[in-house]
Amino acid sequence: MSRDKIRGIVLRSVKYAEHDRMLTVFSLEKGKLSVCAKGARSAKSQLLAVSQPFALSEIVLGGSRGSYISSARLMNGFFGLQSDILKVSAAAYMCQLIEVMTEDESADENLFRLLYWSLATLENASEHLSPLMACCFALKLMGISGMAPRLECCMRCGEHREYYRFDYSEGGLVCTDCAGPSDMPALKASEAMRLLDMLYWDIKSLPDMDIPDAELMKHLLRTVNDYVIYMSGRSIRSFDMLFSLL
Ligand SMILES: [Zn+2]
Repeated sequence: MSRDKIRGIVLRSVKYAEHDRMLTVFSLEKGKLSVCAKGARSAKSQLLAVSQPFALSEIVLGGSRGSYISSARLMNGFFGLQSDILKVSAAAYMCQLIEVMTEDESADENLFRLLYWSLATLENASEHLSPLMACCFALKLMGISGMAPRLECCMRCGEHREYYRFDYSEGGLVCTDCAGPSDMPALKASEAMRLLDMLYWDIKSLPDMDIPDAELMKHLLRTVNDYVIYMSGRSIRSFDMLFSLL
């Protein structure tokens, strides 16, 4: 593959100038980068489908620094995601997490595969899987980024207990005895086990996992999202949209 040819997924697409779109693309070869899709807002543009959120394309970069799309071929638009607001919201959340957690032009094949298979699985699954997929994705993203939370036992005393706090500053569970008074989120052992399951579950087989009941799912998703915010120091706006639908 030529130096200027990439395979990438559109994380974000915003209007730019009069006819263009500025895309944030997460590519297999170069990681995250910004490219201009010239003329992409015209209904007749070859780049119309390529510049939609979540679209996976083979892109030939133009310009001395690869700043615009010279030509592109759509490989998978994941258009099935657009039919359901929960799926779209979960997909947008996953894309924003990649944007927040990765550096520009730092390729990571594992992250690329995680995003690709998450979008592909979500597209063909029931919409009820969306929050579980979002939560599982966030955990796996943290794992690949070297920040997998420790969820097996208390990180201070090493004991297995029934009740814990998820202590973000320690990167995992602290039992209520060790934690004392704490404003960190509470997790029962069984709930921590569900997060651990998600961390190691094959994303393509996620439809086989039992979906937690609605209240527990919200608690787990918020807990994991707050962990990502704590570790990244960034806000994640798309979370509010997703969470409001649950
Ligand atoms: Zn303890």
